[in-house]
Amino acid sequence: MNIKGIISEKEARMMSYAVSSCFFIIHVLMFIMFLTYGVTPMAIINVFSMFYYIGTLIMIYKNRLYEFVVLTYFEVVAHMCMATYFTGWINEFQITLIGLSILLFFAEYVGRLIEAKHIHATPLCIMGMFAYLITLYLDHNHNIPYPLPEHVSYFLQASWAIVVFVITIAFLHIFVMVTFHSEQFLSRKASQDELTGLLNRFTANNLLDDFIKRNEISNSWVSMIDIDDFKKVNDTYGHNCGDYVLVTLARIMKDRFDDSSCFRWGGEEFLIFDNSSEEKADAYEKMEQLRKSVEEYEFDYDGRKLHMTITAGIAFYEKGLSKEEWINKADIKLYEGKRSGKNKILM
Ligand code: GH3
Ligand code: MG
Ligand code: MG
Repeated sequence: MNIKGIISEKEARMMSYAVSSCFFIIHVLMFIMFLTYGVTPMAIINVFSMFYYIGTLIMIYKNRLYEFVVLTYFEVVAHMCMATYFTGWINEFQITLIGLSILLFFAEYVGRLIEAKHIHATPLCIMGMFAYLITLYLDHNHNIPYPLPEHVSYFLQASWAIVVFVITIAFLHIFVMVTFHSEQFLSRKASQDELTGLLNRFTANNLLDDFIKRNEISNSWVSMIDIDDFKKVNDTYGHNCGDYVLVTLARIMKDRFDDSSCFRWGGEEFLIFDNSSEEKADAYEKMEQLRKSVEEYEFDYDGRKLHMTITAGIAFYEKGLSKEEWINKADIKLYEGKRSGKNKILM
């Protein structure tokens, strides 16, 4: 899954179809209403609007979502300003422009998310605001040519309130959920190693920094692990086989330790951070068990059997140690282990 997968192009198209269909139905209803109450210019304008929304189906089908959003925005702004001009501010056609602003920002976000040509909502919404204010000015300075009966105005006020609230609630809800899931997805990406699925070095650093900040007194330790003669695996069997060994070793580590204690430090080096040992000897015992598990494991890559070993250095936390000094202590032990024959745990 990638960031684009949070909302797909198809879902963006489906949402456009839904918006377009709703707007079409609204225009059919308005056409009937204007015709019934003799608002002839608006009835004619609505015929054009209905044709426009039928046309949008083709636009959306051809994936011209940018054009769909911009033209639809202008259609609604022009239509609602004219409806207000002809029938009066009291019918509240103009408040739909406020709901539309939310839709527009959502459309920009989706466009950016799917990496399509996207609109810029801010200038469009500012234009919408001016259209709103100009309509207000005109409303105050002319006689309303086609006033609607009071009960119709009352009905329209309620209808537009519902439309604006529904748009606001629905799209802000979707926006919050999409944003939340994208952030979760990105933070998972940023904290995990792609190949092995282990937590990565960035996460290990954060965790150790937090631990040191908390200033706890405990038998906490880190162990730096390095696969022995790993280069030979790559050189002999290829890089994919090397990857397979890394993934398998990560699994063996996760079988022995908490997922939250195992980290891929980089390349063929891993780090264990343990905060749960009762006694210092436990650390050695746990790492020795891991070393044995790896030594005894028969790696099987495409029918080729191989055996691997690891060397590790353990360092306990001591008050006053910086994170770098602490890890360096484990590193020094690891290299002592390497120099003295590998496949061992030093503490
Ligand atoms: P030593 O026992 O002294 O640790 O020797 P070594 O061969 O394990 O160590 P060296 O540092 O010489 O080689 C490490 C190799 O790990 C080199 C590099 O190509 C390989 N490597 C690092 N990251 C990856 C990876 O993600 N996948 C694969 N397949 N190989 C990797
Ligand atoms: Mg190494
Ligand atoms: Mg190595």
